[in-house]
Amino acid sequence: MTSEGSSPDRKERSPIPPIWFSIGDPPRREPPVVPGYRLAVWEQVPLVRANVLGCLSLPVWFIFFSWIAAMVSRRSEYTIVFTLPSFVVGLLLVVVGVPLVHEAVHGIVALLLGARPSFGVGAGFAYTTFRESVGRSGYAAVALAPLIVISFAGIAAVAVWPEHTELILFVVVVNAAGAIGDLWMTWRLRDVPPNARLYDLADGFAALVPEEAPSQVGAEA
Ligand SMILES: [Zn+2]
Repeated sequence: MTSEGSSPDRKERSPIPPIWFSIGDPPRREPPVVPGYRLAVWEQVPLVRANVLGCLSLPVWFIFFSWIAAMVSRRSEYTIVFTLPSFVVGLLLVVVGVPLVHEAVHGIVALLLGARPSFGVGAGFAYTTFRESVGRSGYAAVALAPLIVISFAGIAAVAVWPEHTELILFVVVVNAAGAIGDLWMTWRLRDVPPNARLYDLADGFAALVPEEAPSQVGAEA
Protein backbone atom coordinates (compact mmCIF):
# COMPACT_ATOMS: atom_id res chain seq x y z
CA MET A 1 0.00 0.00 0.00
CA THR A 2 3.01 2.26 -0.25
CA SER A 3 2.50 5.11 -2.65
CA GLU A 4 4.58 8.20 -3.34
CA GLY A 5 2.15 10.47 -1.51
CA SER A 6 2.28 8.61 1.77
CA SER A 7 6.03 8.02 1.89
CA PRO A 8 7.57 9.48 5.03
CA ASP A 9 10.76 10.09 3.05
CA ARG A 10 11.42 13.82 3.10
CA LYS A 11 13.40 13.87 -0.16
CA GLU A 12 10.30 13.15 -2.26
CA ARG A 13 8.26 15.94 -0.73
CA SER A 14 7.07 19.06 -2.48
CA PRO A 15 8.10 22.34 -0.79
CA ILE A 16 5.98 23.33 2.22
CA PRO A 17 3.77 26.24 1.12
CA PRO A 18 4.24 29.53 2.99
CA ILE A 19 1.69 30.75 5.55
CA TRP A 20 0.53 34.32 4.95
CA PHE A 21 -1.20 35.00 8.23
CA SER A 22 -2.45 33.05 11.20
CA ILE A 23 -4.70 33.56 14.21
CA GLY A 24 -3.61 31.66 17.32
CA ASP A 25 -0.71 29.22 17.51
CA PRO A 26 1.28 28.84 14.27
CA PRO A 27 0.68 25.53 12.51
CA ARG A 28 3.02 22.57 12.65
CA ARG A 29 4.78 22.30 9.30
CA GLU A 30 6.63 19.04 9.85
CA PRO A 31 5.86 15.83 11.74
CA PRO A 32 6.82 16.14 15.42
CA VAL A 33 9.36 13.83 17.05
CA VAL A 34 7.51 11.93 19.78
CA PRO A 35 9.42 9.46 21.97
CA GLY A 36 8.08 5.92 21.53
CA TYR A 37 6.45 6.76 18.19
CA ARG A 38 7.61 6.57 14.60
CA LEU A 39 6.33 8.36 11.50
CA ALA A 40 4.04 6.09 9.46
CA VAL A 41 2.40 8.50 7.00
CA TRP A 42 3.18 12.07 6.02
CA GLU A 43 0.52 13.42 3.69
CA GLN A 44 0.41 16.75 1.86
CA VAL A 45 -2.54 17.98 -0.16
CA PRO A 46 -1.32 18.77 -3.70
CA LEU A 47 -2.70 22.31 -3.55
CA VAL A 48 -2.61 23.20 -7.24
CA ARG A 49 -4.32 19.95 -8.24
CA ALA A 50 -6.83 20.29 -5.38
CA ASN A 51 -7.75 23.85 -6.37
CA VAL A 52 -8.16 22.89 -10.04
CA LEU A 53 -10.26 19.85 -9.04
CA GLY A 54 -12.33 22.07 -6.73
CA CYS A 55 -13.16 24.44 -9.60
CA LEU A 56 -13.91 21.52 -11.94
CA SER A 57 -16.22 20.01 -9.31
CA LEU A 58 -18.41 23.16 -9.20
CA PRO A 59 -20.88 22.03 -11.93
CA VAL A 60 -21.10 18.55 -10.38
CA TRP A 61 -21.96 19.97 -6.95
CA PHE A 62 -24.34 22.45 -8.58
CA ILE A 63 -26.30 19.69 -10.33
CA PHE A 64 -26.29 17.54 -7.18
CA PHE A 65 -27.52 20.26 -4.82
CA SER A 66 -30.01 21.74 -7.36
CA TRP A 67 -31.57 18.30 -7.64
CA ILE A 68 -31.92 18.01 -3.85
CA ALA A 69 -33.09 21.64 -3.54
CA ALA A 70 -35.74 21.08 -6.22
CA MET A 71 -37.12 18.15 -4.20
CA VAL A 72 -36.99 20.02 -0.89
CA SER A 73 -38.32 23.39 -2.08
CA ARG A 74 -40.75 21.90 -4.64
CA ARG A 75 -39.58 24.54 -7.08
CA SER A 76 -38.30 23.42 -10.43
CA GLU A 77 -37.15 26.73 -11.85
CA TYR A 78 -34.57 29.12 -10.56
CA THR A 79 -33.68 32.54 -11.76
CA ILE A 80 -30.18 33.81 -11.35
CA VAL A 81 -30.01 37.53 -12.00
CA PHE A 82 -26.59 39.08 -12.43
CA THR A 83 -26.59 42.54 -10.95
CA LEU A 84 -23.73 44.49 -9.45
CA PRO A 85 -25.00 44.00 -5.85
CA SER A 86 -25.49 40.26 -6.39
CA PHE A 87 -22.00 40.04 -7.89
CA VAL A 88 -20.50 41.85 -4.87
CA VAL A 89 -22.44 39.65 -2.42
CA GLY A 90 -21.34 36.54 -4.34
CA LEU A 91 -17.70 37.62 -4.35
CA LEU A 92 -17.78 38.39 -0.60
CA LEU A 93 -19.33 34.98 0.07
CA VAL A 94 -16.66 33.16 -1.97
CA VAL A 95 -13.70 35.06 -0.54
CA VAL A 96 -14.81 35.70 3.07
CA GLY A 97 -18.21 34.38 4.18
CA VAL A 98 -18.11 30.74 3.14
CA PRO A 99 -14.42 30.16 4.09
CA LEU A 100 -15.05 31.73 7.54
CA VAL A 101 -18.02 29.48 8.32
CA HIS A 102 -16.23 26.46 6.80
CA GLU A 103 -13.10 26.91 8.95
CA ALA A 104 -15.24 27.67 12.02
CA VAL A 105 -16.98 24.28 11.66
CA HIS A 106 -13.56 22.56 11.46
CA GLY A 107 -12.59 24.49 14.60
CA ILE A 108 -15.72 23.61 16.58
CA VAL A 109 -15.25 19.88 15.94
CA ALA A 110 -11.55 20.16 16.88
CA LEU A 111 -12.62 21.90 20.12
CA LEU A 112 -15.09 19.12 20.85
CA LEU A 113 -12.20 16.65 20.51
CA GLY A 114 -10.24 18.56 23.13
CA ALA A 115 -7.87 20.32 20.72
CA ARG A 116 -7.23 24.07 20.62
CA PRO A 117 -7.82 25.20 17.03
CA SER A 118 -6.03 28.03 15.28
CA PHE A 119 -6.71 29.43 11.83
CA GLY A 120 -4.90 31.00 8.94
CA VAL A 121 -4.39 31.54 5.24
CA GLY A 122 -1.45 30.31 3.20
CA ALA A 123 -0.48 30.26 -0.47
CA GLY A 124 -3.59 28.81 -2.11
CA PHE A 125 -5.39 27.54 0.97
CA ALA A 126 -7.20 28.51 4.17
CA TYR A 127 -6.74 26.19 7.11
CA THR A 128 -7.79 25.25 10.60
CA THR A 129 -5.10 23.50 12.57
CA PHE A 130 -4.28 22.35 16.11
CA ARG A 131 -1.10 21.16 17.76
CA GLU A 132 -2.68 18.33 19.77
CA SER A 133 -2.80 14.82 18.31
CA VAL A 134 -6.13 13.13 17.54
CA GLY A 135 -7.14 9.62 16.53
CA ARG A 136 -7.94 8.62 12.95
CA SER A 137 -11.74 8.84 13.25
CA GLY A 138 -11.49 12.14 15.13
CA TYR A 139 -9.32 13.52 12.33
CA ALA A 140 -11.85 12.35 9.73
CA ALA A 141 -14.65 14.04 11.73
CA VAL A 142 -12.77 17.36 11.77
CA ALA A 143 -12.01 17.07 8.05
CA LEU A 144 -15.51 16.17 6.87
CA ALA A 145 -17.58 18.30 9.27
CA PRO A 146 -17.87 21.48 7.13
CA LEU A 147 -18.98 19.56 4.03
CA ILE A 148 -21.57 17.56 5.97
CA VAL A 149 -22.82 20.23 8.39
CA ILE A 150 -23.05 23.12 5.89
CA SER A 151 -24.64 20.91 3.20
CA PHE A 152 -27.33 19.62 5.58
CA ALA A 153 -27.88 23.08 7.09
CA GLY A 154 -28.28 24.44 3.54
CA ILE A 155 -30.82 21.79 2.57
CA ALA A 156 -32.76 22.50 5.78
CA ALA A 157 -32.60 26.23 5.01
CA VAL A 158 -34.03 25.61 1.52
CA ALA A 159 -36.97 23.79 3.12
CA VAL A 160 -37.61 26.72 5.47
CA TRP A 161 -36.89 29.57 3.04
CA PRO A 162 -37.52 28.23 -0.48
CA GLU A 163 -37.61 31.83 -1.75
CA HIS A 164 -33.86 32.05 -0.99
CA THR A 165 -32.95 28.78 -2.73
CA GLU A 166 -30.58 30.45 -5.23
CA LEU A 167 -28.50 32.11 -2.51
CA ILE A 168 -28.40 28.98 -0.34
CA LEU A 169 -27.45 26.84 -3.35
CA PHE A 170 -24.60 29.22 -4.08
CA VAL A 171 -23.28 28.85 -0.51
CA VAL A 172 -23.46 25.03 -0.36
CA VAL A 173 -21.92 24.62 -3.83
CA VAL A 174 -18.99 26.97 -3.06
CA ASN A 175 -18.48 25.25 0.31
CA ALA A 176 -18.50 21.77 -1.24
CA ALA A 177 -16.05 22.76 -3.99
CA GLY A 178 -13.80 24.24 -1.29
CA ALA A 179 -13.89 20.97 0.66
CA ILE A 180 -11.87 19.10 -1.97
CA GLY A 181 -8.73 19.21 0.20
CA ASP A 182 -10.73 17.83 3.14
CA LEU A 183 -12.02 14.98 0.97
CA TRP A 184 -8.49 14.33 -0.24
CA MET A 185 -7.14 14.09 3.32
CA THR A 186 -10.01 11.81 4.38
CA TRP A 187 -9.32 9.57 1.39
CA ARG A 188 -5.62 9.41 2.34
CA LEU A 189 -6.54 8.32 5.89
CA ARG A 190 -7.11 4.84 4.48
CA ASP A 191 -3.32 4.30 4.56
CA VAL A 192 -3.18 5.30 8.24
CA PRO A 193 -3.10 2.46 10.81
CA PRO A 194 -6.05 2.55 13.26
CA ASN A 195 -3.76 2.96 16.29
CA ALA A 196 -2.03 6.04 14.85
CA ARG A 197 -1.98 9.51 16.41
CA LEU A 198 -2.55 12.23 13.84
CA TYR A 199 -0.90 15.65 13.82
CA ASP A 200 -2.28 18.32 11.55
CA LEU A 201 0.26 20.16 9.35
CA ALA A 202 -2.12 22.82 7.91
CA ASP A 203 -1.67 21.53 4.33
CA GLY A 204 -1.60 17.86 5.33
CA PHE A 205 -1.09 15.55 8.27
CA ALA A 206 1.44 13.25 9.89
CA ALA A 207 0.44 9.90 11.39
CA LEU A 208 2.66 8.49 14.12
CA VAL A 209 2.38 4.91 15.34
CA PRO A 210 3.79 3.40 18.55
CA GLU A 211 7.23 1.83 18.11
CA GLU A 212 7.26 -1.85 18.81
CA ALA A 213 9.06 -2.44 22.09
CA PRO A 214 11.31 -5.49 21.49
CA SER A 215 12.22 -5.85 25.19
CA GLN A 216 8.54 -6.12 26.15
CA VAL A 217 7.82 -8.64 23.38
CA GLY A 218 10.85 -10.65 24.55
CA ALA A 219 9.68 -10.55 28.16
CA GLU A 220 6.24 -11.82 27.22
CA ALA A 221 7.61 -14.73 25.16
ZN1 LIG B 1 -11.94 22.40 5.03
